[in-house]
Amino acid sequence: MVRIAALALAVLAAGCSEQPEAAPAVPAGMAAQITITVAAEGDWTVAYTLPAPATELVFARSPDASRGEDWHGPDGFEIVLEGESERARRVDGEPFTSVSFVMSPRYRELPKDYAPFMPFGDGGRLFYTGRLFACAGPCADDAAWSFSAAAPEGLSVLVNGERFAGQASWTDREQGRNVYIGDAEPVDSGDVMAVIDSSLPPQIRDQLEAQLPRFMAYFTQKLGALDAKPMLFASYDVSPSNGRWGRQGGTLPGQVFTHFYGDPWPAMIDDPALPGDLAWFFAHEAGHLYQHDAWADGAVNAWIHEGGAEAFAALAMRADGAGDVVDTKIASAQAACAEAAAQAALRDAIEAGRFDAAYSCGLLISLAIDMEVREAAPGSDGLYTVWRNFIALGEGQYTEDGFLAVVAASAGQAFADEVRAAVRTPGAAFGNLGAGPG
Ligand SMILES: [Zn+2]
Repeated sequence: MVRIAALALAVLAAGCSEQPEAAPAVPAGMAAQITITVAAEGDWTVAYTLPAPATELVFARSPDASRGEDWHGPDGFEIVLEGESERARRVDGEPFTSVSFVMSPRYRELPKDYAPFMPFGDGGRLFYTGRLFACAGPCADDAAWSFSAAAPEGLSVLVNGERFAGQASWTDREQGRNVYIGDAEPVDSGDVMAVIDSSLPPQIRDQLEAQLPRFMAYFTQKLGALDAKPMLFASYDVSPSNGRWGRQGGTLPGQVFTHFYGDPWPAMIDDPALPGDLAWFFAHEAGHLYQHDAWADGAVNAWIHEGGAEAFAALAMRADGAGDVVDTKIASAQAACAEAAAQAALRDAIEAGRFDAAYSCGLLISLAIDMEVREAAPGSDGLYTVWRNFIALGEGQYTEDGFLAVVAASAGQAFADEVRAAVRTPGAAFGNLGAGPG
């Protein structure tokens, strides 16, 4: 009450009609208050309030200059890409404390970043909060934002595994998260909360609803529960008819998502390989969640966590009775790895931009480790033993040395040395690791 009265007085005292609308307060320690107003149909509004007047709003993630095209600010404001960052500012250079933008919540593929919006065919929508992160000046690594979102009557806001009717508030930081707004009823299986587009063809939807909870339960049992219940999202939007189509997905902490877009999908959806590919995708991404942030540092070591996630997918799908899909995946990985790392050692191939080799060769290495550990310790669960020990090393130990040390602990030093040499040898036969006479 006191605050409202004070603002009213300030407006009266100024005595003119050009005062901006009373903006919400920015909680202490926050880089900005970000208020999202969702429309049932049409454009969304994103309003920023800064703790103090500033001459520019610098966006934390700027993979390209597309905000300048997609976001519409008030007259006298512009969004420009300068250096590495998009910035919003007044054309006259004067400071401001609040500004709002109107945007169409449509899918856009961004280079090496998450899509700002993933529309569901049933009317729901995911949006990526990191796209909205901005500060007065460059954002600090530990910056945090106070968010609130208001949805139209009848829609709920699903954030951090909790569902709110109409209105939600949360604090956001680091990589951000996807927030769902819509009327879908999430499927909560205990280990996971899933929102699967009801417009997805039933055979795909049924498969995902049945299989994903089993994968999550399996990984929970093998690698330990996550801090918070993970969320899975699958959106299917066949309305884009601009010739662009595909499927894009990924993970954010505690979230796995995939988005189908484009009008060719209904004709592609009966591809007999699609259910297996989708299951593999979700198992791989879910596998990352259960790596508990133990990602080996440095791109050249990506074979450890990407190969690990690929092998988790293989083991999970085999355990789920989909061994035929696994056999096909291994065969194609053998061909792809042989091609990618024939002339250069795996580490050098990755360094030279063949990141796909981290997946294909990484799968073969991880499966060889799995087999070797099971031979060395009959009754053990192979690769999972290695990963539990790797995760337990703790932050700062997630290196190639750290990983090979836990491999040596379960499979012997000679085998770990063999792996270390193989990733440094052009044309290494990763499928034969551990099978040699040594
Ligand atoms: Zn991955």
